[in-house]
Amino acid sequence: MAFVIAEPCVDVKDTACVKVCPVDCIYDLEGENQLYIHPTECIDCGACQPECPVQAIFPLSDVPAQWASYIEKNAKAFEGREIHASATGGGSDGVAAPAAPNELDAIRKLLEQVSAKKLAPEAALEQVVPALKKLGIHVG
Ligand code: SF4
Ligand code: SF4
Repeated sequence: MAFVIAEPCVDVKDTACVKVCPVDCIYDLEGENQLYIHPTECIDCGACQPECPVQAIFPLSDVPAQWASYIEKNAKAFEGREIHASATGGGSDGVAAPAAPNELDAIRKLLEQVSAKKLAPEAALEQVVPALKKLGIHVG
């Protein structure tokens, strides 16, 4: 799952969404007339959606039918491109590390369970700390 940027962004590209994305997964790719969200780096936090002045950003399951092609467009925009290192732990060779989004996804799911009171914060912490370590973030 990821968020998707659709047609309203075309030729607008004001980058309001980029400023709030916690994992830097919204890209202004060279030669493109809109921004794109990386389909595996996005952690589905939803922070970008309310920032867009033209309502161009949608969760995958909510993309309006007339812009369904933008789901594939967002994914294809990254094919064959070297993505610069991002906050998700991109490698020094300039290609995003594939493991990092999985760790972030796991952390997000744990936090969701805590906020839904399905998991004790202490139990979540035991799993979050090793996941953070894998991302190079050492806690305590
Ligand atoms: S949903 Fe969150 S992680 Fe995904 S692009 Fe928007 S701000 Fe970035
Ligand atoms: S905030 Fe909306 S219009 Fe601006 S760059 Fe992001 S998706 Fe495009």
